Amino acid sequence: MSENKFDFIIVGLGLAGSVLSRMLIDSGFKVLVFDKFNPGSSSQVAAGLVNPVTGRRVVKSWMADTLLPFANDFYRKIETESGKQFYHSMDVLEVVHSIKDLNEWTVRSADESMKKYFMREAPEELYNDKISEFKKLICINSSAWMNIPEFIELCRLKLTETSSIIEEEFDFSLMKINNNEIEYRSLKSKKIIFCDGYQTLKNELWKNLPFVPAKGEILTIKCPDLPEEFILLSGIFLIPVGQNKFRTGSTYEWNFQNELPSENGKSKLLNQVSDLLKVPFEIIDHRAGIRPTVKDRRPLIGQHPEHKNVFLFNGMGTKGVQLVPYFADHFTKVLSGKENLMDEVNLNRFTN
Ligand SMILES: Cc1cc2nc3c(=O)[nH]c(=O)nc-3n(C[C@H](O)[C@H](O)[C@H](O)COP(=O)(O)OP(=O)(O)OC[C@H]3O[C@@H](n4cnc5c(N)ncnc54)[C@H](O)[C@@H]3O)c2cc1C
Repeated sequence: MSENKFDFIIVGLGLAGSVLSRMLIDSGFKVLVFDKFNPGSSSQVAAGLVNPVTGRRVVKSWMADTLLPFANDFYRKIETESGKQFYHSMDVLEVVHSIKDLNEWTVRSADESMKKYFMREAPEELYNDKISEFKKLICINSSAWMNIPEFIELCRLKLTETSSIIEEEFDFSLMKINNNEIEYRSLKSKKIIFCDGYQTLKNELWKNLPFVPAKGEILTIKCPDLPEEFILLSGIFLIPVGQNKFRTGSTYEWNFQNELPSENGKSKLLNQVSDLLKVPFEIIDHRAGIRPTVKDRRPLIGQHPEHKNVFLFNGMGTKGVQLVPYFADHFTKVLSGKENLMDEVNLNRFTN
């Protein structure tokens, strides 16, 4: 294949584009990635929490039994290969404040399908004088947090070594979609895949898809008296990221004016952290990003309804860390003709 010809152009090196490009290259495809680095992109801002149990209703998160071990194995493989650690297995402690919630947790955690995520007693004494009064701490295992920017940086470096990345904005107006080929300036590619997160909203090709992007804000606090062995959940999360620092958040906003951190977001989070912590802390960082969330909260993957060589790998919403490896692997197999795309994530559920 000549220098300017590719099997795939990928637009976007967030978490989605990083994992997918890696898997396509490992499967023998020639890939070129375009990425305009944005420190406010969802992947750069995200907390990176992986949790098999979702929300107040105490339900197993979608496909957790399949997605979590797959994600764990994939990220560990990259860690071994690179000698860098970015995926941190860490139990979550859910802070239960009311008898009603405690009943809910007790019933749900005894459920046969959930039991394996509740194998450990929480060391409550660690937190007795550190956080506001609680009825119980429930320990959830198989959880983790990931330093997503570190992982993406590893992918970026690897792509740079093989001249497989162009670090500039992909300009849609310069793209020509022919029957069997995509042309972009002097470059030619058999196919193109958009992994451009919520910015895909600017892309005319996908304007009919029901993205409902959600702005999220997040703080980093310094709190020397809080134990660093567990992730705390109490409406907000507190993730220990080392050196007495904790990432905490996050807010959800669907009608936002811009991508920037706001005073309103900061004070909401500050109130929640102040309600939870009985030990002193200071805010050392405040960020905002836009999650690529979808109406039915499932990924949006697949082929454009009219242009057969144009694809989307997006819609990873609030749980990219656990969703992306499994679905990047599945999509790689789909693109290699080895599997059929799962109906539940196929974007044709909205275009047919
Ligand atoms: C506050 C917050 C907290 C979160 N917490 C968690 C969490 O705890 N756990 C979890 O799993 N997920 C979390 N998420 C969600 C997670 O960030 C996403 O699921 C995931 O990172 C989305 O990755 P992506 O690659 O699809 O999109 P993005 O991260 O948006 O990446 C898209 C990339 O494409 C680039 N790009 C876009 N358009 C172009 C173009 N035309 N040309 C060149 N480059 C382009 C962008 O600059 C960016 O680099 C959180 C998100 C936010 C905002």
